[in-house]
Amino acid sequence: MDIALVGIGKIAVDQHVPSLKGSSDWDLAATVSRSGTVEGVEAFTSFDEMLEARPEIRVVSLCLPPVPRFDYAAKALAAGRHVMLEKPPGATLAECIALEEMARDKGLSIYATWHSREADKVAPAKAWLADKTLKSLHVTWREDVRRWHPGQDWIFEAGGLGVFDPGINALSIVTEILPDPIHLQSATLSFPENRQAPIAADLAFFHPGGARVTCDFDFRQEGEQTWSMEARCEEGTLLLTNGGGNMYIDGEEQGEHHSGLDGEYPRLYAKMAELVRSGGIDMDLRPLRHAADAFLLGRRSVVEPFEF
Ligand code: NAP
Repeated sequence: MDIALVGIGKIAVDQHVPSLKGSSDWDLAATVSRSGTVEGVEAFTSFDEMLEARPEIRVVSLCLPPVPRFDYAAKALAAGRHVMLEKPPGATLAECIALEEMARDKGLSIYATWHSREADKVAPAKAWLADKTLKSLHVTWREDVRRWHPGQDWIFEAGGLGVFDPGINALSIVTEILPDPIHLQSATLSFPENRQAPIAADLAFFHPGGARVTCDFDFRQEGEQTWSMEARCEEGTLLLTNGGGNMYIDGEEQGEHHSGLDGEYPRLYAKMAELVRSGGIDMDLRPLRHAADAFLLGRRSVVEPFEF
């Protein structure tokens, strides 16, 4: 199937282009970006022109930051194209709901991707937790924003989500692996005094079984980077590390050891191909709902200014 990639920036180059090139489902037929291009692929700088010039491209994958994404997604759907959305699927819940309704009305597929859910040990962790009694779950998601998002000022603008840009990956795993629904009870968000989005956040959730569910997100972590969560259960302790790539039960590693985002994006594109073939829609907004609740409920703490 032909696909167009929109927003040729860091994640498009690092993950989307290699995943599409390695897939038998997809042919990368065009790109749309004001400055980015992919060698050997027709490049447009205007989305309208691409939609007009290449009617045979039925699927569009949007790798833009969240704020500009809605306009592109709405245009693509209006032009009868299936749409795949990078995470988070939008800048607000309402615009994501509107996109889902548009897709449904037009009989098109739309996919809110959560790449961290495709990490190797997320499915085994979910299976292990399914029949356990949870006592606590603690998430530690601490990374160096300068290393992973160099110069990306949009991330600290309104709608850029700040530390929730990586934190929402943790929330996408938590909502996938926990058998019970949770909701936010309290939060503290740390805003650099010169920025519109938080650089750190502490969250605490209500869990119907009375377990303590907490998250510690921080964008200021230099040196070793931590993307882990520990679930203590009456029956034992599950530890996920490396963003869901590795899993330990009571300290013993389970399955193969992974690094990086191994396999996550190829699995997303395989799912998108399946959705398009079956006419399906996958718009699970729970991770964005929890992030939005943190902005609704969170106490604001002002911290020192941040510059890249
Ligand atoms: P990025 O490199 O800063 O931006 C992607 C591209 O979007 C840019 O190269 C730019 O291309 C285009 N763009 C930026 N602002 C725009 C605007 N206002 N209007 C139209 N186009 C605009 O960002 P990224 O790191 O790839 O992240 C994009 C999305 O992927 C985010 O939602 C992020 O959460 C997600 N993601 C990122 C990573 C990562 O490691 N960085 C990992 C997983 C997911 P042109 O200037 O050429 O138009």
